[in-house]
Amino acid sequence: MLHYHTIPVTAFQQNCSLVWCDQQMEAAVIDPGGDLERIEAEIERLGLQLKAIWLTHAHIDHAGGAGELAEQHGLPIIGPHPGDQFWIDGLPQQSQMFGFPPALSFTPTRWLQDGDTVSIGQETLQVRHCPGHTPGHVVFHAPQITRCFVGDVLFAGSIGRTDFPQGNHQQLIDSITQRLWPMGDATVFIPGHGPESSFGRERQSNPYVGGT
Ligand SMILES: [Zn+2]
Ligand SMILES: [Zn+2]
Repeated sequence: MLHYHTIPVTAFQQNCSLVWCDQQMEAAVIDPGGDLERIEAEIERLGLQLKAIWLTHAHIDHAGGAGELAEQHGLPIIGPHPGDQFWIDGLPQQSQMFGFPPALSFTPTRWLQDGDTVSIGQETLQVRHCPGHTPGHVVFHAPQITRCFVGDVLFAGSIGRTDFPQGNHQQLIDSITQRLWPMGDATVFIPGHGPESSFGRERQSNPYVGGT
């Protein structure tokens, strides 16, 4: 069975998630933006074996710790979609701009495309490309537990910013309505920041995408 545990990291309180299969307790970490010692302490506490880093997109608060964590533990970095190459290249500048510890740039071991899958232990998650907040943003859908890890695409009561370079508001709305909503109203999503919600609740009450 698939399990997850979310750890808010960095000054931006970014929801880094550990996801693991309870067969061999093998884990992947989604969006290790920083505070690596806190993430490592949780891995130890939960008795997990960290096998991979999965990235939704390459903003500093999500990807800032990925290069260092990969180097220290010899882990593959999987994702995001190649549209975020320029954000990865810009990680050192992003860290300066936002007052983060210096972030390493890196080359993902594997880029992700819409329709791909990622696996941990016996568990498989589905990848959807959801551009708009960044051009290479992906989400990780775990239908077996009715969950989706959506990064900065959608929040409880809000949506991702689109005022960054290559952000696109209409593309973001299309990603939410055409790629997230079909996962079903009952699907609970873990956003990049703030509390969980369900697609059904957002479809009803989110001021940006309610009624869609
Ligand atoms: Zn972001
Ligand atoms: Zn974020």
